[in-house]
Amino acid sequence: MKKVIVSDEIMQEAQNIVDGVYAPLTGFVDENDFKSICDNMRLANGQVWAMPIILDIDDVTKVEIKDEKSITIYNGESEFVLENITVYEVDKKKYVKLIFGTDDLIHPGVERFMEYGRYFVSGDVKVVDEKEFVTDNKNYTKPEDTKEIFRKNNWECISAFQTRNPPHRAHEFLQKQSLTCADGIMIQPVIGPKKTGDIKDEYIMGSYEILIDKYFPENSVFLNTFYTYMRYAGPREAVFHAQVRQNFGCTHMIIGRDHAGVGDYYEPQAAHDIFDEFEDDINIDILKYENAIFCDNCEDNVFINGCDCAKECKIALSGTKMRGLLEKKQEIPEKFMYPEIVAYLESQDNLFCS
Ligand SMILES: [Zn+2]
Repeated sequence: MKKVIVSDEIMQEAQNIVDGVYAPLTGFVDENDFKSICDNMRLANGQVWAMPIILDIDDVTKVEIKDEKSITIYNGESEFVLENITVYEVDKKKYVKLIFGTDDLIHPGVERFMEYGRYFVSGDVKVVDEKEFVTDNKNYTKPEDTKEIFRKNNWECISAFQTRNPPHRAHEFLQKQSLTCADGIMIQPVIGPKKTGDIKDEYIMGSYEILIDKYFPENSVFLNTFYTYMRYAGPREAVFHAQVRQNFGCTHMIIGRDHAGVGDYYEPQAAHDIFDEFEDDINIDILKYENAIFCDNCEDNVFINGCDCAKECKIALSGTKMRGLLEKKQEIPEKFMYPEIVAYLESQDNLFCS
């Protein structure tokens, strides 16, 4: 069988497929599904699926595998088999706009998509042997195991929270808000390739461990990771993120305004509105939350429209602003982030990705 060398990122996507993180997908998408996902956020058979999971190859590889029915993909350490492969080419300029709503190369998701090789390969992903690709991320628990854990905890209603930052208190407010209706919450940072200046995965996890240990009721949080890369595809990615959490066994998903957005490419409300179309076809309820802020007058974190206090009283701390303060080792007030977490983050020599 022909072996094709692929990136760790592709290997991780294959692992996600095998683990059922991307169910109903069983492989990298073929041309029909690719086009249908881009056009309608549905597979060719009508099932909702918002994000094309793609394996791209270059011209040379295309020639090498032209007579093959199955190939092996590997990254030098581990491998997967791809069965019943097909190779296709799409008009990337056309489809990038359908996926991201823009073809602006400054958009990080567009930039990544346009850098893909010219051809895409579809095929069902199979594990070669028991030595399947093991992510180096010890905090990952796969869907069949999370479902078992939720069952053992007697959690029937489980909310999911997606993040890519250490916890600040506005996020904690949203997480705890969901616990007013859920038995437990799965907090699941996206772990994987990051941009320069982002906080390293291990410190996001470390700071969450502090938060959960000290500030959440016992046995109310399950900390997991979702190993993939951010597409920054806004509302489309919100649907993708929700279905992934459905696969982990969650019944509810917190979606804030401008979920998975970047710059001002998406209307903040779009990440909520998009679910109107899919509500009956997906098996997870969306908790459409407004932003949370700290209100100086209420002396608490609240939803932005959750109190009638004057605008001047309401202060938001964005992830970007928080990273800036940490970088310059400036004081972060306790109303934004717990002092133990600030101290933990500031004591790290290599907090940021380079
Ligand atoms: Zn207030």
